[in-house]
Amino acid sequence: MNSMSRRILVAALLLISVGFAPAARAQGNPPANSNATLFQNVRIFDGKTASLSAPSNVLINGKIIERISTGPIAADPGVTVIAGNGRTLMPGLIDAHWHAMLIRPNPAQAITGDVGYNNIAAGVEATDTLMRGFTTVRDVGGPVFGLKAAIDAGLIAGPRIYPSGAVITVTSGHGDFRQLSELPRTLGGMLSRMEQIGGSMVADSPDEVRVRVREQLMQGASQIKLTAGGGVSSPFSPIDVTTFTQAELLAAVEAAENWGTYVTVHAFTPAAIERAVAAGVKCIEHGFLMDEAAAKLMAEKGVWLSAQPLPEALRQGFPVGSVQRAKADEVWPGIARTYEFAKKYKIKTAWGTDVLFSQALAQKQGAILASLVRWYSPAEALAMATGTNADLLALSGKRSPYSGKLGIVEQGALADLLLVDGNPLENIDLIADPARNFKVIMKDGRVFKNAP
Ligand SMILES: [Zn+2]
Repeated sequence: MNSMSRRILVAALLLISVGFAPAARAQGNPPANSNATLFQNVRIFDGKTASLSAPSNVLINGKIIERISTGPIAADPGVTVIAGNGRTLMPGLIDAHWHAMLIRPNPAQAITGDVGYNNIAAGVEATDTLMRGFTTVRDVGGPVFGLKAAIDAGLIAGPRIYPSGAVITVTSGHGDFRQLSELPRTLGGMLSRMEQIGGSMVADSPDEVRVRVREQLMQGASQIKLTAGGGVSSPFSPIDVTTFTQAELLAAVEAAENWGTYVTVHAFTPAAIERAVAAGVKCIEHGFLMDEAAAKLMAEKGVWLSAQPLPEALRQGFPVGSVQRAKADEVWPGIARTYEFAKKYKIKTAWGTDVLFSQALAQKQGAILASLVRWYSPAEALAMATGTNADLLALSGKRSPYSGKLGIVEQGALADLLLVDGNPLENIDLIADPARNFKVIMKDGRVFKNAP
């Protein structure tokens, strides 16, 4: 970088930091350490251990957890001191299956609605998501790159986003939301509306898959999402079908791995799971129709299961008699069975919600996490949504948009933290009411809520 461009960069960084500094700082006499926060007298859930720490003090410097001590830590002038009063300090929550662009609109608005409006709606929802204590989401499909950039630049409050960009699907697959009137598709022909906005891309050969994968990587995708089998909400993909061929899946995996990252696939059936695993796919979304053999295969190959305890209300939301309802009725009983397989075979299991097209359901994001107690202890559920989900995010390697450790409270990790009024390891329902129970929400060392 030459000195001119360095000066411009420094000036830009200064502008950004001044723009978002607290008012007191802009008025001159910046305190010695105004970038630091000290949590006093907190008990720590670190993101993996099943019990809280002894009363501790935690110093955040910049975006990093600098020091954790059971002894006193002196607060330099200017340090923001937060009295924990014995409350619980834990990592910010991570949702491993989220679609930031697809919460507020209905399906028609998501595809045909005004792009500017949809982005603003997604921005408002992203702020709500952060205020529910979700400091990171893995976005597994949708035109999310602009929203992510706006959040990272500090233009709007929201979670860290691990973007997949467009879902890649075959003609008629899950994610192909075209009408029959839009057929036939011509290779190299005009893009459909959902493709123009980057929501999903159709690919019908290994070559097309490579192009579409590389286009997502070029835009900053941290992982690649394909749909390997049928889905509930899409109109022309029966649940039982297997969509991409082995050669197409291999093309995707090769392109992603050349780029240092991985492919995750939407798959319900054993056939779709087995083909994906054989192609080197590292993570299966849902997996709800898996059988014993598919479960064993995933465990043996160390393939992740990204599962969601989908609420019953979601199934009932599909109109009785509709194709979608029939598919939902087939999939839902598999949810419990899949969690039981995951436990039995010790499959690496991530947690997510897959909320779609419902602001009301998004508000239950924490409650959906708490509902994992059907199969897991509160500590196991909370570890899944913090430390374990962070292990899945780490599969993005150097394509991770954020360097540093997430999902854990330890010295040197990124300071994404929640101060919870109570002990969520004893009462996980605290997570279901974030407005009341999350007293402090910090992301990247910045306090977004402080209401003790
Ligand atoms: Zn999804």
